Amino acid sequence: MSFGIYIHIPYCIQRCPYCDFATYEQSQIPPADKYVKLLQKEIRQNIHNIPGQKIDTIFLGGGTPSLLEASSILTIFDTLWEQGFRLNDGCEVTIEINPATISLKKIKDYLHIGINRFSVGSQTFNDRLLKKIGRKHNLNDTLETLDILAASQVQYSLDLLFALPDQTIDDLKYDLDVISNYRPPHVSCYCLTVSESSPLNVGRPPEEGQILMFDQIERRLVSEGYSRYEISNYCLPGKESRHNMLYWTDQEYWGVGLSAHSYIKNSTWGTRFWNPRAYRDYELLVENKTAFPLGNREPLQLHESLTDFCHTALRISRGLSRFALQKKYGSFLASELCSRLNRLVDLGLLDTHEDRYFLTSRGRLVSNQVFASLTFLKQDLAYILPDNPSGPC
Ligand code: SF4
Repeated sequence: MSFGIYIHIPYCIQRCPYCDFATYEQSQIPPADKYVKLLQKEIRQNIHNIPGQKIDTIFLGGGTPSLLEASSILTIFDTLWEQGFRLNDGCEVTIEINPATISLKKIKDYLHIGINRFSVGSQTFNDRLLKKIGRKHNLNDTLETLDILAASQVQYSLDLLFALPDQTIDDLKYDLDVISNYRPPHVSCYCLTVSESSPLNVGRPPEEGQILMFDQIERRLVSEGYSRYEISNYCLPGKESRHNMLYWTDQEYWGVGLSAHSYIKNSTWGTRFWNPRAYRDYELLVENKTAFPLGNREPLQLHESLTDFCHTALRISRGLSRFALQKKYGSFLASELCSRLNRLVDLGLLDTHEDRYFLTSRGRLVSNQVFASLTFLKQDLAYILPDNPSGPC
């Protein structure tokens, strides 16, 4: 079993119009030293909810954590050590960084306090498109950041956002050329998602165009030695994001800070809990030392646990293991589920090899449909489960 800690840093230099994360422009909320104090309090108050663990991964996400100096981040780490947490050998410690917030000195400072992986919010290498989506950084800022990372020989990932307003396939090809030049160990690819009424929806490639773009990304990255190890993530051999793999392989994680989510196996099917999204609500929760409000804590029921297990396992290329299913949920339920999975194989949406099921390329295109057919309601399982479950898968 592995265990990871996510730490949310809500500050950004701009509020991007397409962003759905709990973030604020720096001037809208109290300064970082105050927020770091809240994080320290939260860690000290909630430690009793977290089983004493060695840490395999830490992820500083946001927001733009690279707006924080290394000394502030060290204060957070020191609070974890003070509470008895220790890093396992080879622990992955990632920070999200945004171009225009990074210098060689800052990278060195981060490395010095134990951060060993960087995730760059590059999005696109096209100044016209960066402007369109409301980003303040420009191509030169990104190239400078990538040069620093390449020269420092550190592990890093970059974000590629596509299907942007007025983006052509040639624009995308240029982005892929830049990626090809730097050859980052890891690339996360996201299709821009906005509501139909959003101004950013105007001029976006239609659905077929978006599929062509993903196809272009897939062919180019795979031809250059990357593997698509998760629906939206590619990496060079052995360079998967270990932290994100926790989420996709039913491992425990503790989320600290605004809007952070946690999953701890302290009840039959585990418990999810999460912090408020609004700064003021989070501040009140921590300052008043109140217990989690009811709505923010959810002991999972069997049908929810099974749904999560199927959805997360099918996101990754290694897929869903029949053996793991059987081990966690027993042979009868595993056998019933395998019938559903086999129906998806017949439809060409899943493939199967040895004891595993995984999405086919067609299945990835309509993954929402696949996941919908593997979403269980309480009554589904009441129907499936007999009084006396038994039998092989
Ligand atoms: S910089 Fe990133 S986290 Fe911040 S608002 Fe923009 S998209 Fe969201």
